[in-house]
This record gives sequence, C-alpha cells and structure tokens, in this order.
Amino acid sequence: MSGVNGAAHSNQLSLDRDLVSPFTALQAMAESSRCLYCYEAACVTACPTAIDIPGFIRKIGTGNVKGAARTILDANIMGGTCARACPTEVLCEQACVRNKAEAEPVLIGGLQRYATDVLFKAGVQPFTRQAPTGKHVAVVGGGPAGLACAHRLALLGHEVAVYEARAKAGGLNEYGLAAYKMVDDFAQRELDFILSLGGITVKTGVALGRDVTLAQLRQDFDAVFLGIGLAGINTLGVAGEDLAGVADAVDVIAALRQRAAPPVSLTGRRVVVIGGGNTAVDAAIQSLCAGAAEVTMAYRRGMAEMGATGHEQDLARTQGVVLRTWLAPREILGGGGAVSGIVLERMAMNAGRLVGTGETVTIPCDVVLKAVGQKLAPGGLDGLALAGGRIQVDETLATSLPGVYAGGDCIKSGEDLTVQSVADGKAAAFAIDAYLKA
Ligand SMILES: Cc1cc2nc3c(=O)[nH]c(=O)nc-3n(C[C@H](O)[C@H](O)[C@H](O)COP(=O)(O)OP(=O)(O)OC[C@H]3O[C@@H](n4cnc5c(N)ncnc54)[C@H](O)[C@@H]3O)c2cc1C
Ligand code: SF4
Repeated sequence: MSGVNGAAHSNQLSLDRDLVSPFTALQAMAESSRCLYCYEAACVTACPTAIDIPGFIRKIGTGNVKGAARTILDANIMGGTCARACPTEVLCEQACVRNKAEAEPVLIGGLQRYATDVLFKAGVQPFTRQAPTGKHVAVVGGGPAGLACAHRLALLGHEVAVYEARAKAGGLNEYGLAAYKMVDDFAQRELDFILSLGGITVKTGVALGRDVTLAQLRQDFDAVFLGIGLAGINTLGVAGEDLAGVADAVDVIAALRQRAAPPVSLTGRRVVVIGGGNTAVDAAIQSLCAGAAEVTMAYRRGMAEMGATGHEQDLARTQGVVLRTWLAPREILGGGGAVSGIVLERMAMNAGRLVGTGETVTIPCDVVLKAVGQKLAPGGLDGLALAGGRIQVDETLATSLPGVYAGGDCIKSGEDLTVQSVADGKAAAFAIDAYLKA
C-alpha cells in the first residue's frame, strides 16, 4: 500500500529509497500550522488506534516534537511504521476538514513520521512499566498485533514471552510491507525500540502447532494472545500452476525485503501479477524495482472494485505497471517446464454476478505471481472456534477458549491493515489485563 505520508514522492522507486521524502523541521512546522485543532476531530475517529492527532500536531507546532511522538506512540506503538505504510488517503487524511475548503488535507502521516523519527533518532524510551504483577502471558506471533499486545501488557506490569515462527520478529512489517516504505531496516529498529521497554522476551523459530501446543501454553501461562496473521496462501486453481516461473507474490516480496534471491528470477523477465489488492500492487512495483522488463497486473473485476486504493493504482501506473481489468486466469502456458504465457478469460457483470464471457486473451510472459489473498493456517489451533475462516472472537477479542485472546489479520475486526492489527493488539492487552485481575 502506498500512503502519501511525507513531503514529496520520489519519481523513480527503488528497493533502497524512500517512497516519500520525509519532512524537514521547517516543512513540519509549516504543515503543522495548517491544522485547525478541530474539536471532536474527524481525523481521530478515522484512525483505528484513535491517535490524538490535533494534540500531537499542536506539540510539533510548539516545538515539543518528542512530546508529539509520545502522544502518537501512547496510542499506537507502531506509529513509526503506520506513518510510512498507512493508507492515510482513506483513513485520517480523508477525514480531515481541510479537504473541504482546500481539497488538500493536513499531511498527518508525514507529521507523524517526522515526530517519531526525531524520538527514535534521540534513542529515547518515553514509557515506564507499572509495578510487576507476577503474571505471565504468551503471545504467539511477532507481527504488529502480537508486538502491540506484548508492549501494552509489559507496560501494565506483566511478563510477556513472544513465540515467533520466523527467524525475525516484525511479521509483515519485516517480511511484507514494500521495501520502499521501510528503508534503513526500520522494522527492526522499531522492534528494538519496543523491546527496550523491558518485560518482553522474543523466542524466534518457534511455531505454534510444530514446536509448542496451545494446551501447553495455556498450562504454562496465565493467558495467551494469538496474533498469527494469515500464513496460508490462496491458489489460482488453474492448469500450469506448478510450472517453473509461478510463485506466490508474498514469497517474492518477503525475499526482496530480506535481500535474498526471490523464488523466481525477475531480472529482464516479463511478469504478470494476478490480483487487484495491495499485495498485487506491491509485487508489481517491486518486480520492476528488481529489474523485471515489463509488469502487467491482471484483475478479474474493474478498477473501482480493486482492493488497492486509487492512490496505489496511480503509483503502479506511474512506475510503469500495465493495469488490465476484467480478466481472470484460466491456464498458465509452459514450454520446457517453464512459463511461456497466461491465458485469461474476459469477465463481465451479468445480473449482479461476475461471469466469464468465453472470450480469452493470452499474455506472453516468463513469470506469474499469484496475489489472490491469504488465509488462516489452522495448524495448532486445536479446540478453537473459527468463523468465516478466521479465529472467532467476542467484542473483548476473547476466543472460545478461556484465557485465550486473538487479534490482527487472524480475526476479522476491520480491514487487514497494520494499524488495525495494532489497535487489536492494544485492545486485547487491556482485556487480558482485566481477565488477569478478575
Ligand atoms: C505484501 C503485503 C503488503 C502490505 N502492505 C501494507 C501496507 O502498506 N499498509 C498496511 O497498513 N498494511 C499492509 N499490509 C497488511 C498488513 O501487513 C497486515 O494487516 C498486518 O501485518 C497484520 O498484522 P498481524 O500481526 O495480524 O499479522 P502478521 O504481520 O502476518 O504477523 C503474524 C506473525 O505471526 C507469525 N506466525 C504465524 N503463524 C505462526 C505460528 N504457528 N507460530 C508462531 N508464529 C506464527 C508470523 O511469522 C508473523 O510474524 C500488507 C500485507 C501484505 C501481505
Ligand atoms: S481534521 Fe485536519 S484540521 Fe482538523 S484536527 Fe484533524 S488534521 Fe487538524
């Protein structure tokens, strides 16, 4: 995803360069002066973590930049990542009253990034933990939901052990968000900042269902939080999916983020990305950054129905991605075991239903990247009730098992966004705190 969270866009994206140029102190001061400090501000309501936006902008305006950062991080401990990755154009900035008069919102994301960058650069830890409660909580998954939950629990005086399946914690902040949004190893710097509070131990390379069971965790800890995201991948279900040159977009993105060789070579290749969401846009743009000769995104519905916002669609176009709509994959063609093209059927709406027209087009290509959504990997969730393919929770984010809570992408609380996962993690921590004190 691609929020306009700073001063100006870099024209040509690369995997090492910021999507936007961060504000200078002067620019931040000038931008802060545009805020009207609205009473019952619409921008705050539009933020899933309810950051006191006018409050932090006022602090920037009065030169109290670290105080501004504290206000942000108190509501959203991943305010630094969200300042880089939030689709602000459909959240806080869309709600800003400045849109009405000037068609130009206060650039809240850019100001948030400025404030949190200043605090991080100063190496300040603005929070202090409450007195120890003697309670221990296990958090499964070291992504935004898990880390936000762990941080708030540690603040409240509990001891937290985070179990993370991958080699590094950070979740999709580390392995998913586009490289040009998270330059300079920001996900790990933010993780270090969170852990510097104390009270949180991270155990990487430990997977629920493989190395540890839910029953064990429930026995060993006073409560458990599940923030395991959506680790399963949807398939296209068409012939040729097993050919060399076909890969899951999230695996390619993860490799590019880790500066590792992607599962398919992209250099000089003609790439077709199947999907219309943020993952598809990120995969398409980053394929070009990684040296692909041409990239086409094919989506089965129209532009208006794409999960990617208008801003993201524009970004893809300006970077040279060809966006093609009303096309659904039917067969991946191969020669000598490798991809040589993809056959897509033209789609149309008929009486409110998406139907194939029977007409097909073939796009010659060497690589097909699948970006048609992720799903819950159910391993290790024995005894837990699911709903709509995700973990079932009540309004306090409690699951069907006593003392077990869940949040982030593995439940359905709102859009699958970093900021929503942070909001869930924080809310679950307060619910767990109340459960432990009952
Ligand atoms: C390619 C891509 C780009 C995106 N871009 C944006 C963006 O720009 N802006 C935005 O707001 N959102 C974006 N999103 C969505 C956002 O990244 C997610 O909504 C968010 O990361 C979800 O947080 P989470 O903590 O629920 O899950 P995750 O970030 O997926 O973290 C879950 C963690 O749990 C671990 N885990 C999984 N199973 C187990 C297990 N069995 N045992 C132990 N650990 C386990 C995983 O390894 C992972 O570290 C993007 C998503 C993708 C896929
Ligand atoms: S809506 Fe816009 S002008 Fe009003 S407080 Fe929020 S950022 Fe400031």
